Amino acid sequence: NFFVFEGIDGTGTTTQLKLIKERFLREENEGRELIVTCEPTTGPIGALIRRGLSGEYRFTADTMARLFAADRGEHIYGSDGILEQTKAGKTVISDRYLFSTLAYQGSAGDPQLAEQLNAEFPLPEYLFYFDLDADAAMNRVEKRNARLEIYEKREFQRILRNRYASILEHYRIEHPEMKIVVIDASLGIQEISEKIWSIIRNKPII
Ligand code: C5P
Ligand code: MG
Repeated sequence: NFFVFEGIDGTGTTTQLKLIKERFLREENEGRELIVTCEPTTGPIGALIRRGLSGEYRFTADTMARLFAADRGEHIYGSDGILEQTKAGKTVISDRYLFSTLAYQGSAGDPQLAEQLNAEFPLPEYLFYFDLDADAAMNRVEKRNARLEIYEKREFQRILRNRYASILEHYRIEHPEMKIVVIDASLGIQEISEKIWSIIRNKPII
């Protein structure tokens, strides 16, 4: 099984992923194994991307889109990659996936390029979209980080949230096989966790 968490910055995907992982370990979910992963990845291309996100390297938005696509290629198809894990019967949840590129680099750069670069990647079974007002989300980001990344700006986050909404709409129509769950990210941490858990627990292994 392959699940993805998405949302603008500050919506709590990383926090929720940690809680789900703990829950999985606690309940042993019938012997299934959970792999938690993220994009940008912890590999060398991911490391390069992070230096772009911090502003240390000033890549164009389209270069970022290409780097993310390369990183994702390794993430999916590389050794110990997502496909290998799911084929071995493991459950994989990724903190961000191609929808982030469509939203972030599609807003900051050429949306058609972002689409083309991501047309061939497999879709997850479930997309959990964490929805939150951009100002509320940015308030959280500013509280937790002293230094902001290049995309962590209020105006850009507002644009991003709108773009995510149209991306979701597109996938709802064109890819009904991928289930989309919209999470109200303004709710309490435990409440959100219960909701996600109730959906992913005991999913048949596919
Ligand atoms: O912790 P977080 O998921 O927010 O860190 C990943 C960051 O990478 C995001 O904040 C976002 O700015 C950026 N990103 C991106 N394009 C992607 C994936 C992530 O710009 N495709
Ligand atoms: Mg962030």
